[in-house]
Amino acid sequence: MPNAEPVITMRGVKKSFPGAMALKGVDFTLQKGEIHALLGENGAGKSTLIKILTGVYERDQGEILLDGTPIHPRNPQDAQKIGISCVHQEINLCPNLTVAENIFIGREPMKFGAIDWKTVNKKSYEIMKGFGLDIDVTKTADSYSAAIQQMVVIARATEISAKVLVLDEPTSSLTAVEAKKLFDTMRALKEKGAGIIFVTHFLDQVYEVSDSITILRGGEYVGTYKASELPKIELVAKMIGKEYKELDEANVRSGKAVSGEPFLSVEDASSSEISDVSLVARKEEVLGLSGLLGSGRTEIARMIFGVDPALSGTIKVKGQKVKIKSALSAMRLGMAFCPEERKKEGIIGDLSIRENIVLALQAKRGIFHLVPRAEAERLADLYIEKLAIKTPSREQSIKNLSGGNQQKAIVARWLAANPELLILDEPTRGIDIGAKAELQKLVITLAGGGMAIIFISSEIDEMLRCCQRMVVLRDKSIAGELDGDISESRIMSFIAGGADSAKS
Ligand code: ADP
Ligand code: MG
Repeated sequence: MPNAEPVITMRGVKKSFPGAMALKGVDFTLQKGEIHALLGENGAGKSTLIKILTGVYERDQGEILLDGTPIHPRNPQDAQKIGISCVHQEINLCPNLTVAENIFIGREPMKFGAIDWKTVNKKSYEIMKGFGLDIDVTKTADSYSAAIQQMVVIARATEISAKVLVLDEPTSSLTAVEAKKLFDTMRALKEKGAGIIFVTHFLDQVYEVSDSITILRGGEYVGTYKASELPKIELVAKMIGKEYKELDEANVRSGKAVSGEPFLSVEDASSSEISDVSLVARKEEVLGLSGLLGSGRTEIARMIFGVDPALSGTIKVKGQKVKIKSALSAMRLGMAFCPEERKKEGIIGDLSIRENIVLALQAKRGIFHLVPRAEAERLADLYIEKLAIKTPSREQSIKNLSGGNQQKAIVARWLAANPELLILDEPTRGIDIGAKAELQKLVITLAGGGMAIIFISSEIDEMLRCCQRMVVLRDKSIAGELDGDISESRIMSFIAGGADSAKS
């Protein structure tokens, strides 16, 4: 950094929670006009550090300086007043207020003693347009996608104060194009001298936009580096603090010929969301559903699992024709479906890990056959161990776990129901690289043990690593199938609809 001048200095920051020492004496310095990535595996303490900086939590020890002056923000409003704004991982909007109201809530411009709605709406429209979004700001926030909602949150934060802007995993729900727009905004704010702290799990994004990188591991400060001087492989090694061999083991299975019996066959089936689907999922095999976002991958999963039931065509389970009218009937046929949006469809935050893990099994058995407490405890402990879920106890409420560990608990929930076919929709999205590798390995191990798996992911690397066969989708229909010789370029040519896209 030319003439570096710190805007934030944190020294020796410590924070304990019951059962967890989240920060064990962390140092962090943010310069003016700098984009600084804060990295670490799930549970490393990133969110806690940020919540202390922004007054959500009180620190146990340590000091924080803003422009050289000690500060002690008591709450986020306090922090905002002195110039520190934060966008948290969870989208934090009032869903039934309009976009404009959300942007100006609490700071509405007044005219003749009343809120000047005209100005609110006009300004909001311009702000969103500045983010490249030409939207109706008088519609309620919940009428827009998660991605747009996230941009609204970011717009609000940058409007309020831009001395220090903290972004805690802001891109998890954004498309690549939207993320690019966000990066442009970050660069523009940086040019104006703002310091930006950026937390993300997408390492390419770290290198695309960051000047510096600070790494935390298990609540400890590992170090601060210039992004241009830290090779990615070293960054990963520092984050996980161990050798990274799991993926090599995982690679061995990918591409092997598969001989498992078909568990599920779908012939010319259509639902309200997708038509003419034909595919087979075999035991001992990971079948990938590949394609761009919105190409119909999730819609196929929802049809198979009875969420949007098939209206025509044939579905067979182990050779028997079946009608799958609901998720419950799919479960009773031996299927499990781990949906994409774990916050919305997956975790029940106030329940314990144990309660979350037995949910699917309980649903499968029905309310008159309560899963006995001892069995629930046994299952919870089994999967906490098997999936290496990091938690002080099975009775911890699941909302206190990090994203990767929540995701493992959801996978555990479906495994506890003992399925023969497991459908995983973006199971590793938004979780850190270590937990990703563990989940990928688990998928491959489960297939090795005889399970049929349908795997959906936007990351081609991960698909290549995990899947033996792949169905590629384009515009809500099947563009082709790849068996054995799966490569990135072949997938791409199917997606693009190029010359190679005849069925192989
Ligand atoms: P990161 O953001 O790097 O994933 P966090 O700061 O969220 O990590 O969590 C750090 C550690 O503190 C984890 O072990 C987590 O379980 C624990 N933790 C975080 N918030 C709470 C809380 N409110 N109560 C109990 N433990 C918590
Ligand atoms: Mg976090």
